[in-house]
Amino acid sequence: MRRVGTLEEISDGQLYGPGDLVRVGCRDCEGCSACCHGMEALILDPLDIFRLTTGLGRPFEDFLEKEIELIIADQMIVPKMRMAEGEQACAFLNKEGRCSIHGIRPGICRLFPLGRYYHDGDFSYILQVNECVRKNRYKMKVSQWVEEEEPEKNRNFINTWHDLCKRVEAAVPELGDAERKQMLVGILKLFYQQPYRPGDFYGQFEERMRIAEKEIKKYHFGTTELPASSCLEVTCGK
Ligand code: SF4
Ligand code: SF4
Repeated sequence: MRRVGTLEEISDGQLYGPGDLVRVGCRDCEGCSACCHGMEALILDPLDIFRLTTGLGRPFEDFLEKEIELIIADQMIVPKMRMAEGEQACAFLNKEGRCSIHGIRPGICRLFPLGRYYHDGDFSYILQVNECVRKNRYKMKVSQWVEEEEPEKNRNFINTWHDLCKRVEAAVPELGDAERKQMLVGILKLFYQQPYRPGDFYGQFEERMRIAEKEIKKYHFGTTELPASSCLEVTCGK
């Protein structure tokens, strides 16, 4: 979920890089699963779907039966984690209150309680101060916390995907109903529904971006100028 606004109300006001120390350490969340309940904005990006489908050996449509659902967010059709009715727990939370897909958990789960602050074509990390319920958190390096194996490729992917989403968001209000539907369904198919091969995600994403860039020129927004602005991306509880 993206928000446009200021940092003051949700963060400690600092911007962090991958090598910075930030107060997120919580002893592996032992005894707590608060942030796996009631999250309305646990939106999944193409890397999350790659990890789920290749990691668990199941097609995208299979997950729609139980663990994920499609919503419209920021003008795009995107999958999000489904929260079970009643207890509002993520479908991947096991009986012991632990994440059953920890090694392939989504990017937003890797970040939490960090968020991203996009500015000048890149992003910094922010620390959300009102989200993690654990007190006495200790400092850890940001890179150690998010556990991305290929951090530079991951950063490029995050920025490229964010840029595409912003361009779509800016363009959609200008399109007619039929064009809008065709474009949004096309993006959903290309980046989420079309199966990924196990192995290198980032190469496959680049291939799909090349196809997307050709396709979106049809809609005359390939060169849409975005207003100079900053943008917050955070996970919000209820
Ligand atoms: S609220 Fe904090 S301690 Fe609890 S599961 Fe989430 S990150 Fe871990
Ligand atoms: S995927 Fe794992 S870490 Fe993320 S909300 Fe679900 S149970 Fe929690």
